[in-house]
Amino acid sequence: MSDEQDYGPELTGDPCFDAVNVLFHYLDGELTEARRTTISTHIEVCGSCLSTYSFHTELRTVVRTRSITKVPDALRNRIANELGL
Ligand SMILES: [Zn+2]
Repeated sequence: MSDEQDYGPELTGDPCFDAVNVLFHYLDGELTEARRTTISTHIEVCGSCLSTYSFHTELRTVVRTRSITKVPDALRNRIANELGL
């Protein structure tokens, strides 16, 4: 056992379910090294989880970029359109 603090829900043993279940904790960097490795190893071999993670990673980048910079209205509208907002 490790004293390293762990966040997020318990892993259930179903790799696809777990990967999605801890997605936001993973993106926030709140998982232990061991758990990150478990998830990232799965993503590398699972196309459907990879596309879910890629989508949310991109989405976060867009949201973060929008919140810290002045985005021109035209660009903001285009991003909103592409995201289906
Ligand atoms: Zn999967």
